[in-house]
Amino acid sequence: MIINGTETAKKIKDHLKTKVHEHLKSGHRAPCLAVVLVGEDPASKVYVGHKEKACLEAGITSKAYKLPESSSESDIIALVAKLNADQGVDGILVQLPLPKHISSEAVIDAIHPSKDVDGLTAFNQGCLSLGRKALRPCTPAGCMELIKSQLPSLRGKTAVVVGRSILVGSPIAKMLLLEDATVIQVHSKTPHPENFARMADILIVAAGKKHLVNASWIKKDALVIDVGIHRGSDGKLTGDVDFESAVGVASAITPVPGGVGPMTIAMLLKNCLEAYEARVYGNSF
Ligand code: NAP
Repeated sequence: MIINGTETAKKIKDHLKTKVHEHLKSGHRAPCLAVVLVGEDPASKVYVGHKEKACLEAGITSKAYKLPESSSESDIIALVAKLNADQGVDGILVQLPLPKHISSEAVIDAIHPSKDVDGLTAFNQGCLSLGRKALRPCTPAGCMELIKSQLPSLRGKTAVVVGRSILVGSPIAKMLLLEDATVIQVHSKTPHPENFARMADILIVAAGKKHLVNASWIKKDALVIDVGIHRGSDGKLTGDVDFESAVGVASAITPVPGGVGPMTIAMLLKNCLEAYEARVYGNSF
């Protein structure tokens, strides 16, 4: 079975749109996302464009702040501080990667945790590590939605995560653990990661290595989530999993494109609405 992330993302976005309409009908302002883009990275510009379009469709106001490549770290942190103080802004997204002379860590940690719709501040990552409620990183949260759509209970399941980045691998490992899966995490220093991968009922691949995983890594009937995105010279997107080889072994698998990617944006909108509801209605996360 091929898991249709585009369809699942659309259902979530339609639901969010309805909720936004209800807030507007009861006399509240629209939720607002501030997007900060530094420099001219073409891929970042495309991603920001997708996020702005998705906000517009859901009835969320998006405000773009485009800063030149030459901006200093303190320029960006000053903008983030201004957005933190702005009661009309519910979410702040700083598009990564930032230019090399800027510390992403310093900029991300300048975002107030209640507006951290990417779920990447040390505070929100810490809450996730402690199993507390918080705004959760969008890509791992999107993966979890897709996993839960196939397997409502993860208790008794073995999950193997390939990758340990702060953005994807580590938060998804924690989320799986919180759902009672037994979790194994492998990385670039793991000898023979394929031996661990073959133990997985659920295999999540976030290695950033095109076609690292093929059928020989996959247990029969495992659920496979491919987070990787690679654009070929022909413009075509592929993942970390060799889809053609894996599809015959997995019980269900996400394609690239059309798998995890659309879910990341849906989760961004979901986080933005949660941050808004917390601000406007005093809801907790
Ligand atoms: P990253 O920061 O480069 O991390 C990659 C991780 O994979 C690292 O932990 C690395 O181990 C591990 N790794 C690398 N080669 C490996 C190997 N041969 N065997 C086992 N582990 C290996 O990348 P990321 O930010 O997590 O992103 C991963 C992929 O997901 C990329 O292709 C990225 O473009 C994609 N992505 C997609 C979305 C989406 O919305 N679909 C969002 C974010 C990222 P070490 O820690 O030892 O180096």
